[in-house]
Amino acid sequence: MREEPEADASRAQYEFWLRATSDGVIVADPAGLVVSINPAGLAMLGQSAEQIIGQPAERIFDKHPGLVNLFKRTGEQTLDVRLPRRRLAVGVGNTLADGGRMVILQDVTERRNLDERRDSLIDAISHDLKNPINAINGFAELVGKFGDLNEQQQRFIDRIDQTSTRLYLQIKRMVDLAWLEAGMPLEHRPLQLRDVIERAIAEAEPVAHEREIIIATALQDPLPLVMGDPARLQQAIYNLLHNAVIYSQPQQVIVIHSWGDEQDVYCSVADRGAGIPDDEIDLIFARLYRGRSGMEMDASGGGLGLTMTRIIIKRHGGDIWVSSNLGTGSQFTFVLPAMAEN
Ligand code: ADP
Repeated sequence: MREEPEADASRAQYEFWLRATSDGVIVADPAGLVVSINPAGLAMLGQSAEQIIGQPAERIFDKHPGLVNLFKRTGEQTLDVRLPRRRLAVGVGNTLADGGRMVILQDVTERRNLDERRDSLIDAISHDLKNPINAINGFAELVGKFGDLNEQQQRFIDRIDQTSTRLYLQIKRMVDLAWLEAGMPLEHRPLQLRDVIERAIAEAEPVAHEREIIIATALQDPLPLVMGDPARLQQAIYNLLHNAVIYSQPQQVIVIHSWGDEQDVYCSVADRGAGIPDDEIDLIFARLYRGRSGMEMDASGGGLGLTMTRIIIKRHGGDIWVSSNLGTGSQFTFVLPAMAEN
């Protein structure tokens, strides 16, 4: 029987998508036999359609245990899949309405390589810095061993110790920032901002607890999904929360609020702390800028937190801004594009 024209059109669209996408798409029937694989999938696996179609997925992909697992499991699963020629894909598998499985493979080789290079650069710099910094700390300690220090001398020695450790951490942060600015690829997957916010709150909880500050939440449920890198977005939100905590007075409340519609997802972090003077508002997102409150209230910051947060949000196609009044508090708000529903 002839299919309806509409069914024809959507099949043609589906086939075009399968042909044109750079992701590998493999479908198996409920018995586990491969029924289709697109050109990108064949290229990734270095096999031909004749070798694969009609074969049991578990046997034909036995050189790729990650892929076999994606076909064996039920529900949605994400696993790394090693490909020939030392390439790597992230595979997402899901069960179809008829009980078969569909697996989508995304080649992440370049991104992972860059991640590894960044980590090894950070390791190398950290390692090279560790020796001189240990020497500074060691000599600072030695001073006390060659005679009693008065209170002020001891304070100076402690400052040398703290400053050298900060220097080390600051350089690590600057390397990370430089990579991000240089366009290091980010993860790009659907995620629920609510989960990311909750993880950032858990990360900020110890500093908040120390200052007896309560972090209250008002999170729309459900929030539309966004596409992004969960670890980087957590870092962006953590930076805002951390600032809100350190620029608040003890026992104040911070509120993190998130809401959205079909187009955008918003998140704001509001505190009732020091606030930001008008003449600093345009400067605080700049690299290494530390405001007057920054210098007064927090010895550990290095003026990179907001720069990092802004780059992360911008790299997700979003924007961030602040409204603040000196002495009554600040509210940082960012917006990310919501994932289109279909
Ligand atoms: P740091 O906090 O390490 O100084 P940031 O880049 O995170 O660096 O912030 C830059 C400056 O912006 C801070 O020095 C501070 O003056 C100001 N600032 C940031 N967040 C807040 C806040 N929640 N309340 C008041 N001032 C803030």
